[in-house]
Amino acid sequence: MIELKEVEFCYPSGVVGLRRTTLKFHKADFAALIGPSGAGKSTLLRCINFLNRPTSGKIEVEGMGKLDRNRRRMRQFRCRTAMIFQRHQLLTRYSALKNVMVGCLGNYGSFRSLFPLPRHEQLFALECLDRTGLLDKALERVDRLSGGEQQRVGIARALAQRPQLILADEPVASLDPGTAENVLSQLYKISIEDHIPVIVSLHQVELAKKYASRIIGLSNGAVIFDGSPNHLSSEMLKRIYRHERIRAPLAA
Ligand code: ADP
Ligand code: MG
Repeated sequence: MIELKEVEFCYPSGVVGLRRTTLKFHKADFAALIGPSGAGKSTLLRCINFLNRPTSGKIEVEGMGKLDRNRRRMRQFRCRTAMIFQRHQLLTRYSALKNVMVGCLGNYGSFRSLFPLPRHEQLFALECLDRTGLLDKALERVDRLSGGEQQRVGIARALAQRPQLILADEPVASLDPGTAENVLSQLYKISIEDHIPVIVSLHQVELAKKYASRIIGLSNGAVIFDGSPNHLSSEMLKRIYRHERIRAPLAA
């Protein structure tokens, strides 16, 4: 379980990216963050793993206590928090397997990581690729894989971190609808099978409703809805997307 208590984040420019927010995430939560561009979804995800150090408030993780002032605990927490991005950020000239092994490196000190990983870690990386259905592509260079396959390598790399928590910032934004569903169903499966929270920001409300067990709606830097997809009314959606400037996501 991870708990944010009155967490707030202001950018150095003075923009408030996240207003005072209190949230708890439990094991096997599959939470979707929705809201228009600029609502604060990325800021919230980046606060959860301290890429943005909260300006005020606290973050507590079960079994680890408060994290903000303890460097060792923070490092442990970061190693066990996997982040998946829209543009997957893979090493494009390397094989899928090598990219996944990068995920294992967090478990070793920087000196140890200069040497090849032990055999059991290499086998574990292969297992992670197998879970995302990519075992047969293990030795393929990732720049020869399709967008969906690359995102699945990103998921396998996340699994190789043996995560306690997975954060994904618009992981399906650049994928076609069928591939997007495949990636989301894999993330959903991981949350259930590995019993960990998975928090995903999405701009397609329909996908959020279909896959997430919990929807968190943000508007203008504040959480204004937190509940099950069944409780997300069309009035609430209108409120969440009130500040949408470019297009209505309801049509997605
Ligand atoms: P979302 O991910 O929902 O599109 P963000 O979290 O990126 O929203 O942005 C929330 C607010 O913070 C917006 O007003 C945005 O302009 C601002 N913001 C985001 N990143 C930065 C930054 N690096 N510096 C200053 N302001 C930022
Ligand atoms: Mg964003």
